[in-house]
Amino acid sequence: MFFSELCRLIKPHLMGSENVEDYMRDIIAMLTTVPEKDWATAKDPSQRVKDSTLRGFYNRGLSQKMAKQILANLDKEGFIESINHYERPETVRKNLANDIAPYVNDEVNEDNVGEILFELFNEALNYETNPSKKNERKQAKAKQESSAFKGEMGSVLLEDCRFACSYPGCGCSLQTVNDRNSGTPSYEIAKISPDKKSEYNNLLCLCYSCFDSYILGYTKQKEKELKTVKTIQSSSRYSNIVLDEIEIEKGITLIVEKISEAKEEDLKNLNYNPVSINEKVEDESEFMLRETIEFYVAKYYAFVHKTMQNLSEEGKFKDELVRVQIKENYKNLKNQKNKPSKENIFNSLAEKIQKQTKQNIISCHIVVAYYVQSCEVFENENSK
Ligand SMILES: [Zn+2]
Repeated sequence: MFFSELCRLIKPHLMGSENVEDYMRDIIAMLTTVPEKDWATAKDPSQRVKDSTLRGFYNRGLSQKMAKQILANLDKEGFIESINHYERPETVRKNLANDIAPYVNDEVNEDNVGEILFELFNEALNYETNPSKKNERKQAKAKQESSAFKGEMGSVLLEDCRFACSYPGCGCSLQTVNDRNSGTPSYEIAKISPDKKSEYNNLLCLCYSCFDSYILGYTKQKEKELKTVKTIQSSSRYSNIVLDEIEIEKGITLIVEKISEAKEEDLKNLNYNPVSINEKVEDESEFMLRETIEFYVAKYYAFVHKTMQNLSEEGKFKDELVRVQIKENYKNLKNQKNKPSKENIFNSLAEKIQKQTKQNIISCHIVVAYYVQSCEVFENENSK
């Protein structure tokens, strides 16, 4: 167990009316011995820490530095004495013993609870400062956060990724199907940017193995890829919830109008035969992207097409020219050295359109989906 978990677990029994920072200060003071002459001076570890840092220790975990300081000044006798303090009613110690019982092997009761609690703290501190356990700690912390996120928004995030791992190139199912043919979700929720807030825009569902490899093998590049996936997932969610139809349709119309303002380029032969999305985004790992594109095509293809036709007749839209440009852009992206994923290409095209037209990203995704369906983007791999 982590130090902070333990602090949270026992808080109801030890905390009076004081706030979290005072509670943490008390716990640190109880655990450590500081000579009387150093009380409330810089040598007293509980005094020199800012309130906000102490709240962080409580909510997110102890720093390595603090853990080492506490370890170096541990005072077992003092801790046991303060737990057994005459002002602490026996029932409080009894309840405390009950709450920590699931975490220890020995029998724990109101008489030995101080000693056993001290050992738990000692173990937690040693675990947190042991460098060989660094990966284990990282993983344990991420899993602990993941289970909290699941309670808060697991179902929303699972819906977003259509129950498939969000990691580019994986896409495996996040459900285990049991005998009765109903699925049980099996997944973890990872923070995309480890240092940012744990909010909807920073969380994604991953399968167990992608979760571990992201947590333990984090790189900026991987973070960037996951951000792209998140943009697509959340924009398809918001297209259903936040923006109303009129706003989306207005966005599409303006995009179609503005997109023609781009420079003239040579026209080339184009392939207009509709091909099913399935053949263009056929890899299982791109399940989420395929579902998103299919959803947009089913809902908006006709509208986009009609808008283009109307504006074309009014001379406000240069259909062939735009198709060539989209196709060129797609080819340039696809042939980049870093071999971008399809999610990446899809999103980059939408971002380009957004930059040019200043419309909402959802409408831009819808327009790119239109060009996927009409073959300018993601050519049918089988037909080559
Ligand atoms: Zn995966």
